[in-house]
Amino acid sequence: MPEGDTIFRTARALSRALTGKPIIGFRSTYPLLTRFNDDTPLAGQTVEQVESRGKWLLIHFSGGGTLATHMLMSGSWHIYRSGERWQQPRGNMRILLENSDYIAVGFRVPVAKMLRSQELARAARIPPPEIDVLSESFSAAEVLLRMMTCANEEVADVLLHQEVMAGVGNVFKSEVCFVTGVNPFCKVNSLENEKLMALIAAAQRLVAATVIEDSGDTIVTYRGRKRRTTHEADPGASLWVYGRAGEPCRRCGEGIRRRIQGPDARVTFWCALCQPMADGTEVEG
Ligand SMILES: [Zn+2]
Repeated sequence: MPEGDTIFRTARALSRALTGKPIIGFRSTYPLLTRFNDDTPLAGQTVEQVESRGKWLLIHFSGGGTLATHMLMSGSWHIYRSGERWQQPRGNMRILLENSDYIAVGFRVPVAKMLRSQELARAARIPPPEIDVLSESFSAAEVLLRMMTCANEEVADVLLHQEVMAGVGNVFKSEVCFVTGVNPFCKVNSLENEKLMALIAAAQRLVAATVIEDSGDTIVTYRGRKRRTTHEADPGASLWVYGRAGEPCRRCGEGIRRRIQGPDARVTFWCALCQPMADGTEVEG
């Protein structure tokens, strides 16, 4: 599943291609989208904003509608110049938006809906900007309140709850715990508020570091990129603990542990020496 930083990059690229320009063509294989377009044609409307909210990508139109898409495992957005050869078969196209310069194609996007503003505000599964680690409106205080409603859950699981804090995926979950020195299997209520705030700050810092402007004003289609939370030049050596089971900790040399965690059975990596349990117990890897 794409992490929040992937969606953020996609939103940034789409924003460059679409924002402020009138739509001249719209197509979709989804009946609900084409019906919306029949009632309220998108052609002639302007794209006002493109934003990511956690794993959702939102395209806001001047007519008041918002196209909300979620990529799940399979979906991606590409941007082409008109006449440029597509990198996926035509049959994978689900949504197409065209302006005078670009064609934005949503390939195999599994979840797509058009929402009017009241519907967007009520859409419980789309996180508000205050809890999106990459949003300018991000509020650590709001996230802290939401974390504290999960007092009896293990902290690494809570980092994945998109309704608590949006944008941290399974890779960053382990990395955020490591850089904060927090054991991923600690219950939220075993941690001081300052420690929870440190986790939130680390989540924001690490995810933001992966989306630092690196493409100037050019339009790029996101094609995957190594995530990086250390400062090593070698991209293969770019993460502190994720994917490094049995390898020495980059800080203390202890073997990195790996364990399946939580109701969704997601893999977690940690260093038992750098990230001790608050009560001194040991979690087996
Ligand atoms: Zn260590």
